[in-house]
Amino acid sequence: MTGTHPLDLFDLDDLVGDEERAIQQTVREVMDAQVRPHVAQWYDEASLPVRELAVELGKVGLLGMHLTGYGCAGTSATAYGLACLELEAADAGVRSLVSVQGSLAMYAIWQHGSDEQKDAWLPRMATGEAIGCFGLTEPDAGSDPASMRTRARLDGTDWVLNGSKMWITNGSVADVAVVWAQAGPEHGGIRGFVVPTDTDGFSAPEIKRKLSLRASVTSELVLDDVRLPADAVLPEVTGLRGPLSCLTEARFGIIFGSLGSARDSLETALRYAAERDIFGRSLGSFQLTQAKLADMTLELGKGMLLALHLGRLKDAGRITPTQVSLGKLNNVRESIAIARECRTILGAAGITLEHPVMRHANNLESVLTYEGTSEVHQLVIGQALTGESAFR
Ligand code: FAD
Repeated sequence: MTGTHPLDLFDLDDLVGDEERAIQQTVREVMDAQVRPHVAQWYDEASLPVRELAVELGKVGLLGMHLTGYGCAGTSATAYGLACLELEAADAGVRSLVSVQGSLAMYAIWQHGSDEQKDAWLPRMATGEAIGCFGLTEPDAGSDPASMRTRARLDGTDWVLNGSKMWITNGSVADVAVVWAQAGPEHGGIRGFVVPTDTDGFSAPEIKRKLSLRASVTSELVLDDVRLPADAVLPEVTGLRGPLSCLTEARFGIIFGSLGSARDSLETALRYAAERDIFGRSLGSFQLTQAKLADMTLELGKGMLLALHLGRLKDAGRITPTQVSLGKLNNVRESIAIARECRTILGAAGITLEHPVMRHANNLESVLTYEGTSEVHQLVIGQALTGESAFR
C-alpha cells in the first residue's frame, strides 16, 4: 500500500494508552504467527483447533483478560476491546472463541459464582486448559430467552436438568457449560448452572454445514436428566439479569471486534486496488473506487471513535446496556457493509478464500445475529428514545 492507512487519517493514537497499544500489538503478532497462515484452510474445512489455540491464547493472557484474580490479567476494557479487534481481524471465529470463554463462560462464574466454583474453574480457563461454553439460546428461544423450555428441578438436594440448547459456541469441545434453565418461581425463575460436560446425560453434537463462522465450533447441547449437586447453581443471581449481564460483556467486545473484520477487508481492498490494472491504469486511480474507499474509511474511523468512547465509559464504570446496543448495532452493521463493498473491489477474486474479504463478510452474518440481533438492538434504542417497549 503506498497511501495512508485509513485509521491513520483519524490520528487516534492519543486515545489509546501505551500498555493498551502494546497488548494490541502482541495480539496482532500472535494472530500473524498462529492463525493467519492457517485460517483459510480451517474455514474451508470448517474446523478450528480450539484446544491448541486456547492454550496459546492463554499463554499471552487473552482468556478472561479483563477480569481480575484467578490468573486473569485485569486489563482495561479498552485493551480487551482492542484485543478483540485484532483477533477478529484474523477471523471472527477466533474472536468468538475468546469472547465466549472470557466474557460469557468465565464472566458468568466470576460475577455470579461461588468461591468454590471460581477456584475450580477460573484458573484453568484462564490458561486455556479448560474450555467453557455458554448455553442460553434454544431451538425455539433466541431473541426471547424468557421463553426457554430447559427446566431445572430439585430432586432431594440434587438439581436435574432437562432440555436442549442451540447454536452454542465451543459446545462440543467444552469442559464446562454454563447452562441457563427455568427453575420455577420458587427458586428465582431462570438460574445458571455450572455443568461439567462429562456429566451423565450431557451431550453436545456439533452443528454442521454452516456458511458463516466456519472456523468456529458451534453445537447443540442436549440435557437428558443431567443430575448435578446442589452447589452447581450460580448462587449470586436469579432471573434473566444473570445471562443478560454476561451478554452485555460479550457485546462490548463485539463493538471493537467487528471493526477488525472491517479493517482487514479495507486493507485488502486497498492493496488490491493498487495492484490491479484495469483499462490501462490502477483500479485505485478511478474515482468510483476512491469514493468507495473514502466512504468505507469514514465508517471505519467513526466506528473506531465510537468504540474507544464506549471503552472509556466502560473503564469509568459508566457504560449502560443501551450504549452497548448503540455500539454493537452500528459497528456490526457498518462492518458488514464495508466487507461486502470491499468484495466488489476485488471482483471475482473476492469470492474465494485466497482473500479474507468474503470470509469476513460471511462471518459478520453471524455477528449480526448473535449477542442480540440488529433488530433487538434497534428495539433497545427505540425503547430508550420513546419510553415504549416494542419487544412484544
Ligand atoms: P430469532 O430470535 O428467532 O429471530 C429471528 C428474526 O426475528 C431476527 O431477525 C430477529 O431480529 C427478529 N426479531 C426477534 N424479535 C423481534 C421483535 N420483537 N420484533 C421484530 N423482530 C424481531 N447462543 C448462546 O446462547 N450461546 C452461544 O455461544 C451462541 N453462539 C452462537 C454462534 C453462532 C455462529 C450463531 C449464529 C448463534 C449463536 N448463538 C449463541 C445464538 C444467538 O444468540 C441467536 O441466534 C440470537 O439470539 C437470535 O436468536 P434466533 O437465531 O433464535 O433468532
